Amino acid sequence: MKARVLSGVQPSGSLHIGNYLGALKNWVKIQYDYESIFCIVDLHAITVPQDPAELRAKILETAGVFLAAGIDPKHSRVVVQSAVPAHAELAWLLTCVTPVGWLERMTQYKVKAAAQESVGDGILQYPVLMAADILLYQAAIVPVGEDQSQHLELTRDIAQRFNSLFGETFVMPATSLPSVGARIMGLDDPTAKMSKSATGAGHAVALLDPPAKIRKTIMRATTDSNPAVDFDALGPGVANLLSIYQAFADWSDDQVRAHFAGMRYGDLKKQVAEMVIAKLEPFQQRYREITADPGYLAGVLRESAGQVTPIANATVELAKRKMGIYTER
Ligand code: ATP
Ligand code: MG
Repeated sequence: MKARVLSGVQPSGSLHIGNYLGALKNWVKIQYDYESIFCIVDLHAITVPQDPAELRAKILETAGVFLAAGIDPKHSRVVVQSAVPAHAELAWLLTCVTPVGWLERMTQYKVKAAAQESVGDGILQYPVLMAADILLYQAAIVPVGEDQSQHLELTRDIAQRFNSLFGETFVMPATSLPSVGARIMGLDDPTAKMSKSATGAGHAVALLDPPAKIRKTIMRATTDSNPAVDFDALGPGVANLLSIYQAFADWSDDQVRAHFAGMRYGDLKKQVAEMVIAKLEPFQQRYREITADPGYLAGVLRESAGQVTPIANATVELAKRKMGIYTER
């Protein structure tokens, strides 16, 4: 039996090039080497306020983006998290073995909590639900962007703690990061991670943005006061643009240096914009084809949920039995 891969994206906004380069691109690359499950994690999205109609639409849009990016529904499962109730059930069991102190130390919690007047409990619990998503399927590999490595460490800590309290139950999941593009920064502010939920017109390039908008966003990206690319003094904005180009082009560091050393920022931006547009064009075409038939995606999601539910339920059953929670068997 092949080892299992699991990863997910929140339907909390429009997927951007950071989500693609940090996560989806890697999923597409490794999907056939594993038994692959990719989730639209709507229960995570509601840890911050969402408009119900918009959330509903974004769930389907995210599923369409997965397939358009190259996830093969004949091989990989594309699952809406809330369609498999075991995610929430295991999250509660894991909550009860997780110290609050572990959760309060999480960077994402600190950043998201600082941005709000009243902090929802869901923001604190987020990593426990994420641990449940992963451990539920006994996943061996979790391909994510760099911002999620800390949550993956916590997932291993929770699994370890559960296993030592109740006996071997969960597979220890490994983190898989891409070598380039693991942390794409905001184009308006290269000191902040590019995020779906961040507002601001110049922040991100969404995967479904039209070419004119992509060009405009990249041409306005924040750089620094130097005129041209200097590899001995790379500012974060220029480094970010170079990473975006490198990840889309699949170039080595040497190729990037040889091509961009001494290039004026205006020309660099033009080349990055044209590279991104060229790579997204076939993706956007596939997205339009996939979403032309509204019943198709719903069918993929229904079938996938049906296929993974027995795996998920078996893990919850096992965890419950280990903990002494009532089970019929
Ligand atoms: P939100 O602002 O709602 O948290 P997000 O853009 O951070 O949205 P997530 O749904 O939280 O997206 O994360 C989905 C996947 O994309 C994760 O694997 C995450 O590590 C990866 N990812 C998110 N942002 C980036 C980024 N800027 N660069 C690389 N990978 C990223
Ligand atoms: Mg995020």
